[in-house]
Amino acid sequence: MPTVTDCLFCRIVVGEIPATVVHETDTTLAFRDIAPKADTHVLVIPKAHHDDALALGEADPALAAEVLAVAAVVAKAEGVTGGCRLVFNVGSAWGQTVFHAHLHVLGGRPTPAMGVE
Ligand code: 5GP
Ligand code: ZN
Repeated sequence: MPTVTDCLFCRIVVGEIPATVVHETDTTLAFRDIAPKADTHVLVIPKAHHDDALALGEADPALAAEVLAVAAVVAKAEGVTGGCRLVFNVGSAWGQTVFHAHLHVLGGRPTPAMGVE
């Protein structure tokens, strides 16, 4: 059977690839990063495909705001509202490896790779 799409995160959205989902709305999905760089490392994505966060912000600012609202829900549920890092990598030169817009929610103890002592 052909796949819906070659985009990894679109495939997670339709359930073709499993993920540990921590929060879902009609338009967004939040799931644990497969290679966590901190105690809490959750990715929040719009279900609709946008190549990166800037494309998302340009095409659908209301959806971009929903992604941030879900990050707040996730941070609260994970107990990291006192301090965390929210990251959108845009472009391969700045570390983007999956070209479906996603917000990293990082909290708790970071790994040295995060550059935080
Ligand atoms: P980027 O480097 O594009 O900002 O972030 C992509 C993130 O997706 C990385 O932190 C990587 O560990 C995560 N990732 C890659 N493949 C998968 C996967 O199949 N499942 C999950 N849950 N996360 C993934
Ligand atoms: Zn996609």
